[in-house]
Amino acid sequence: MKCQRCSRTAVLYQKYSNAHLCRSHFIEDVERKIKRDIRKFKMVERNDRIAVALSGGKDSIVLLHVLHKIFQNRPDIELVAITIDEGINGYREHTLEHAVKLTNQLGIPHTIKTFKQGFGTTLDELTGKKEHAACTLCGVLRKNLLNRYARELGADKLAVGHNLDDEAQTILMNFLRGDTDRMKRMLPGIKQPGLVMRIKPLRSIPEKEVALYGFLNDLPVSTDECPYAGEALRNEIREMINNYEVKHPGTKYSLLGGFEAISEALRPLNTGIVNCEKCGEPGSESICKTCRLLSGSIR
Ligand code: SF4
Ligand SMILES: [Zn+2]
Ligand SMILES: [Zn+2]
Repeated sequence: MKCQRCSRTAVLYQKYSNAHLCRSHFIEDVERKIKRDIRKFKMVERNDRIAVALSGGKDSIVLLHVLHKIFQNRPDIELVAITIDEGINGYREHTLEHAVKLTNQLGIPHTIKTFKQGFGTTLDELTGKKEHAACTLCGVLRKNLLNRYARELGADKLAVGHNLDDEAQTILMNFLRGDTDRMKRMLPGIKQPGLVMRIKPLRSIPEKEVALYGFLNDLPVSTDECPYAGEALRNEIREMINNYEVKHPGTKYSLLGGFEAISEALRPLNTGIVNCEKCGEPGSESICKTCRLLSGSIR
């Protein structure tokens, strides 16, 4: 198959746009969507210091590469990377290697922090002791540390590698749970006291395309999977949306677009963020979720 924009061989067929694209037109397409979203949602502003959450998985590796490419000629924009090592034996070591390799290649300052440093324990220890859902614990605690260290580094934004699939799944999960507070917190451009503003430059890029982009750019991406299988509801929803996408190409974009369209109705925002009485970090209740999970008062 030939690329529909030139005569080279296509590397991808985008069913949702009915386009065959060669390597360079595919890369151009991905970067165009990212730049469009950065502008549209004012993700990056003059003189920003951007902390990039770099787990070392494919999404965050692609995110750091692409942000560096886009902003390398902008001396006012500074990138720093933060990796949180949750303490997942046999898994995090590998992704950590990829993270270090990339930051060295690009010359980006890299801070590595562990759950042990932040909370005095590891994810493996926590899940071993209490029957917590690993991903709930992992997600809440990681988010807490990322915010804490991004703030300490003086970052204006915290860039996370969520792709289109992640976003579509989260939107549907929030609807199914009727969780309107979470919906509000998903809106782009949300400023909340104590929280470094999160930006999601990959939000319009399907997961498969993120992987292909990483592969075509020779980025150090691994196919390692976390030994904790992932959240059950999210896995079900992933499968459902993927089946839908096959039958009705563009479903993921429709979910994102539909959410954006109704999001204005969710403003003005009162997300009710308060500082935790125990640890002082921002959260939605007087004792934050991190503290409640760590003390075992919720599971
Ligand atoms: S799959 Fe779950 S436990 Fe593993 S890194 Fe992701 S959130 Fe953490
Ligand atoms: Zn082409
Ligand atoms: Zn707390």
